[in-house]
Amino acid sequence: MKCSACGASMSPVVSDFPFKVSSRTIVIIRDVPAYECDSCAEYLFADDVMERIDALLASATRSAELEIIRYAA
Ligand SMILES: [Zn+2]
Repeated sequence: MKCSACGASMSPVVSDFPFKVSSRTIVIIRDVPAYECDSCAEYLFADDVMERIDALLASATRSAELEIIRYAA
């Protein structure tokens, strides 16, 4: 797995990520498996992880300004 920004190798991490789903709503997804670049701040998600993130964001409540969801069901 290589960083698309700088070409350095990426390490697997589990972290919390904020996603802006509308102008007023931010959804934080906890404990998301991702890859973190060793030399810059770039993050990358595997395809199946990205699909699950999309599904979680689609089901998020957009009336709240901030919602926190766990990645693992
Ligand atoms: Zn990088």
